[in-house]
Amino acid sequence: MWSFRHWRRRRILARSAVSKGEWRRAEESLPLLESLTDDERHRLREWATLFLHEKSLEGVQGLTIDGDAARRIALQACLPILHLDFDWLRGWTSVVIYPDAFVVDHEEMDSAGVVHRVREARSGESWDRGPLIISAADVDAGRQRDAYNVILHEIAHKLDALNGVADGFPPLHGDMQPEAWTRAFTRAFEDINQRLDAGQETLLDPYAAEAPEEFFAVATETFFEVPERLAEAYPDVFEQLARFYRVWSLKRS
Ligand SMILES: [Zn+2]
Repeated sequence: MWSFRHWRRRRILARSAVSKGEWRRAEESLPLLESLTDDERHRLREWATLFLHEKSLEGVQGLTIDGDAARRIALQACLPILHLDFDWLRGWTSVVIYPDAFVVDHEEMDSAGVVHRVREARSGESWDRGPLIISAADVDAGRQRDAYNVILHEIAHKLDALNGVADGFPPLHGDMQPEAWTRAFTRAFEDINQRLDAGQETLLDPYAAEAPEEFFAVATETFFEVPERLAEAYPDVFEQLARFYRVWSLKRS
């Protein structure tokens, strides 16, 4: 069946001026992508090409984003939707990149005088239809497999917000069971909070305990960066994310 969307995408892809060498250079700088198959790599390049066409990348405070940086952003932003569809990134167009990390990775002191690391874009509305806000440091974060990747984190919030507000419950596929999702995430969220209350170490970044939507975003980072750690900590959550992202190839151990 002829589809305008499909035709339009083909045309954008055909007109892309990015060479294979340029894609390869961007991919090789991101160990996160090492385990992709050739087919997956090909598809990720297509999504990233559409991303660069549809989204505007704006450096602020004097920061300029060169082609390499833009491609690294696009590849990381499209990784979560690799096995979904580009349409999952609908509803927002701009990516704002600050030179410095503190805008999205700053410290705040609470009423008890305790300093917390906060890695949110400052405004809550940026989760809905507003820009994706990251820092230049985040663009390179995919260079280490350390379960920390703000691009993946913010994209998870975007996917989560597709069915309303970001609340840790994104639109699930028809073959998924909402009860299974809720059960897995509720148990894991309670577990990490209990561990932190008891002063124990946690396998996931403690930031996951902030709120259900943060748990989902942090779990997403861990799922793509160090899947075996998520599978060890919360196998049911791993299973749900594998179903949601339709990724079955990640290592569980
Ligand atoms: Zn967050």
